[in-house]
Amino acid sequence: MPAQSNLITEEKMLSKFFRNDKGFTLVELIMVIVIIGILAAVAVPKFVNLTGAANDAKCAANRGAINSAVAMTYAAIVAYDPGQATWLENATLASLNDSMFATGSVPTCPLTGTYTLTDGQITCSIHGA
Ligand SMILES: [Zn+2]
Repeated sequence: MPAQSNLITEEKMLSKFFRNDKGFTLVELIMVIVIIGILAAVAVPKFVNLTGAANDAKCAANRGAINSAVAMTYAAIVAYDPGQATWLENATLASLNDSMFATGSVPTCPLTGTYTLTDGQITCSIHGA
């Protein structure tokens, strides 16, 4: 008989555990909502800043790629014909189109900036040099 009474006790404990009809109180729910609100208020400006930083970095990477392409093209042209040493002064973004970049794939600013090539150095109208 003692074994059976132990079994009943366990069943009672389990049924008590699973049939707990108590929910959260209103104060507990409000506290959770306030905490989630604070976390969201901290996180949203952080993501906005990340987007701006990503655009700046993308533009800097594009300008670096174009500067490298200009330097490599210039080196190749001058090595082939030293008489074309003035190529760098007259270089345009379009002149990189079929040499270093596939046609129409010269990198552009991720925002609305335009790139200007002056004496072999690229500058963005928004992000600068
Ligand atoms: Zn830019």
